[in-house]
Amino acid sequence: MLVLHGSGVGKGIAIGTAFVLHGPSLDIPEYTIPAQEVEPEVKRFRNAVVASRQQLREIAAQIPANAPSESASFIETYLLMLQDPEIAEKPIRTIREQRLNAEHALRMHGAALMRVFEQMEDAYLRSKRTDVEDVINRVQRNLLNIHRERLTDIGKSLDGKVVVTRDLSPADAVLLKRHKMSAFATDLGGPISHTAILARSLNIPAIVGMHGASRYIRNGETVVVDGKRGVVMVAPDSLVLDFYEQRRAYVIGKQLELEKIKESAAVTRDGATITLMANIELPDDIKAAQESHADSVGLYRTEYLFMNRAQPPSEAEQFAAYTRVIKTLRQQVTIRTLDLGADKQVDGGRGEAPTNPALGLRAVRMCLHDPALFKPQLRAILRASAVGPVQMMIPMVSSLDELDQVKSLIEEVKHELDREGHAYDANIPVGGMIEVPAAAVAADLFAQHLDFLSIGTNDLIQYTLAIDRVDDAVNYLYDPLHPAVLRLIKLVIDAANKAGIPVTMCGEMAGDPRYTRLLMGLGLRLFSMDPTTLLEVKRKVMDTNLNAVRLATENILRCHKSQELKELVGKLEFA
Ligand code: PEP
Ligand code: MG
Repeated sequence: MLVLHGSGVGKGIAIGTAFVLHGPSLDIPEYTIPAQEVEPEVKRFRNAVVASRQQLREIAAQIPANAPSESASFIETYLLMLQDPEIAEKPIRTIREQRLNAEHALRMHGAALMRVFEQMEDAYLRSKRTDVEDVINRVQRNLLNIHRERLTDIGKSLDGKVVVTRDLSPADAVLLKRHKMSAFATDLGGPISHTAILARSLNIPAIVGMHGASRYIRNGETVVVDGKRGVVMVAPDSLVLDFYEQRRAYVIGKQLELEKIKESAAVTRDGATITLMANIELPDDIKAAQESHADSVGLYRTEYLFMNRAQPPSEAEQFAAYTRVIKTLRQQVTIRTLDLGADKQVDGGRGEAPTNPALGLRAVRMCLHDPALFKPQLRAILRASAVGPVQMMIPMVSSLDELDQVKSLIEEVKHELDREGHAYDANIPVGGMIEVPAAAVAADLFAQHLDFLSIGTNDLIQYTLAIDRVDDAVNYLYDPLHPAVLRLIKLVIDAANKAGIPVTMCGEMAGDPRYTRLLMGLGLRLFSMDPTTLLEVKRKVMDTNLNAVRLATENILRCHKSQELKELVGKLEFA
């Protein structure tokens, strides 16, 4: 039996057969061909293009009728790209004129086409370069006779399998939501990467940062995944299997126990009411939010609507998605404006990345840089605010100037809507995510210009401790209990309280029951989290004596030594 370790991001136990998805690397051979081989080579190239087209059509035919429209539209785009002369014709000319092998000729012209996309002004079109690369790679794989499984090949059933792969982009991970896998494990990735967050929302055992898993585990092998401990056992013997069967039954029993408090209010033993809200990624997550009995939606990550598709969703499509959430839930929905960039690329970020993507043109920066992308979203959110209670939340604000720009765009859009006779909530609350240290340090200033604050601990920790949340090499430094992080959180909560505006936390820390008491002690009353963790947090709230926790938290904030501080947080369990 082989035992592999990583970071557990989705709890529970799964026992099943492995399904290994292989990565995209391709070795392209380059050679010249004799004159008599030229026409057969052209034929080989044409066959590969035809096969690619055929495969894409097969995938399109397998998309279920109720699948989101973007699934079909990205295939349409791929089919169109296959007809582009740079891909379909010019390589043939090169094979004939320069007597190059088909793979080499395709690579030359494909690279030229990708350069055209790279140089485009429009950030969204520029990011389409990776779609071109995907199409070219498909033809290359057909030339090389390599058949790689991809999540976008939706017809492939992963149901009941333990999916093992080297890496998963958030764009790929969101496709996983359509399958009913029993667990998944990746070689790379950190516990608060967006892929890990999506994995958690699947409510299945999941482990990231399992160096070498996709190399050591073979298709069809039996594996046990212990999501809580971050361990995978490959080819376990019967003793291990028996042990984990029993553990799985125990974990399921525990979950059923928690279900009993679904309808209960999140009130502490000494009478303080805590608001527990849900984070959602897609309109399809409404069900999970409803089942968790969350008070409202504290974070709707709209960027997932923009992934795995050729064109950004139109205003009408966004309006339909937002109103579906609002109408079905009949609760307040906090819609976060687009947070694309860094690891969240429209198509998985397989193309060339900027030098420092997390510090680059991300979130509100990308939106302000590209109003053509931003304005339809602002219009859709504002129009949706006429349908039910909506708050708008701006991610990654780092300066007040940025906020001014967003506000003027909102005003501009409101005037447009007035002129066109569209209804909207004129007093729609506009809040900001406090996830850049600058915004946390100056939270008192931001609080004067915003209707609410929401602490995004995933990014706040990444930026404060200078650790890339996607890079598992620095995972070990991820520490929500770092005194600098705790001080910033306290600063933000106090600033919001002083300004008399609500403050929420919507990063992963808010959904981790180990920190519930500490955060309550720091003054937090509004928590937003993945619905799968809500009941555990509620249990913690209901078992808490807030007054005792508050006193103990003061000592924690005075503590300078990391180990001592962690021990004091551990002792909160007994407060
Ligand atoms: C955060 O940064 O804590 C957050 C909630 O936003 P995201 O994880 O989508 O970056
Ligand atoms: Mg964030």
